[in-house]
Amino acid sequence: MKAKILMIEDSPTQADKASGLLRDLGYEVVWAETGELGLKLAKESNPDLILLDVVMPGMDGYTVCRWLKLNQATKNIPIIMLTVKGEVENRVTGLEIGADDYLPKPFNPRELEARIFAALRTKAEQVELGEQNRELQELLHKVEFMAITDPLTGLYNKRRFYDVLKKEFLSSKRYNHSLSCLILDLDHFKEINDKYGHLAGDATLKEVGSILAKALREVDTISRFGGEEFVVLLPFTPKKDATLVAERIRKSISETNVKYEKQEIKVTTSIGVASIEDIQGGEMDALIQYADDALYQAKHNGRNRVEVFNLGMIDSPENND
Ligand code: GH3
Ligand code: MG
Ligand code: MG
Ligand code: MG
Repeated sequence: MKAKILMIEDSPTQADKASGLLRDLGYEVVWAETGELGLKLAKESNPDLILLDVVMPGMDGYTVCRWLKLNQATKNIPIIMLTVKGEVENRVTGLEIGADDYLPKPFNPRELEARIFAALRTKAEQVELGEQNRELQELLHKVEFMAITDPLTGLYNKRRFYDVLKKEFLSSKRYNHSLSCLILDLDHFKEINDKYGHLAGDATLKEVGSILAKALREVDTISRFGGEEFVVLLPFTPKKDATLVAERIRKSISETNVKYEKQEIKVTTSIGVASIEDIQGGEMDALIQYADDALYQAKHNGRNRVEVFNLGMIDSPENND
């Protein structure tokens, strides 16, 4: 593809001469006779490079250059300023306002060619760097995503869960709003693996993950803690409401037939519930601990059920193993 050069030059004779030269060198040339038209064409025709005359009636080259560099759409287009004034002062002014290079008129065609070549090469390098940068950003996002996500279910992993818990816990304390936690552990999951195979077990875990995602709100945090254990954080949710949510989830899981190949798998879950009001000035880890104590009680009381934490559970002997 030919590189496109926008020439902003008020003199038709000079424009004509330079255009001929540039076309012979294989460039496509667009000509603007005034600074105003040049600004318009710079935006519309998306040139690879701009040759900009300094001395023009109306808007002069310095003003055009300043506008081009201020505009998001044109600021990365390299600009070579052309002028009859070859003095050092003008040259400095041109470069200060953002011109990339400077060429005194009348220019030597070979020098013009060399300057254009150099400016286009620099631009190409910048474009390539920009692309590499974008690719790196994408990779970084992917790595970040992987670092916080459980690959099987797509839910948050334990590490991400604790990050969220930390924030929610502090915010709940500061603003004195409720926060509840559910811990789910699938019942007799080992038997499901044994009976249907490990892949069927994986499919079951995925299905449970999507039941949770459907049953909960955007603000809730759902994570796979590991194995067949899931933890859910419910901000702005008092214990009474969290218990209803837990019961709804329990019921929904128990009514689901997980389809894997030609098999239909039934699974149930035990759920422990605890809330920030249970821990009264305690640390956030206590919230998880208490929900786990309640879960233990749910297992103990026969599975496929929800138990809500109460202080009696702390010293219960079943919790000491
Ligand atoms: P309980 O009702 O007491 O919780 O019984 P359980 O069988 O669910 O409990 P246990 O902790 O003995 O077994 C958990 C099983 O979960 C054992 C393990 O093989 C299985 N498991 C853990 N992670 C995965 C996984 O990623 N995929 C599959 N398919 N199984 C898993
Ligand atoms: Mg002029
Ligand atoms: Mg378990
Ligand atoms: Mg289990």
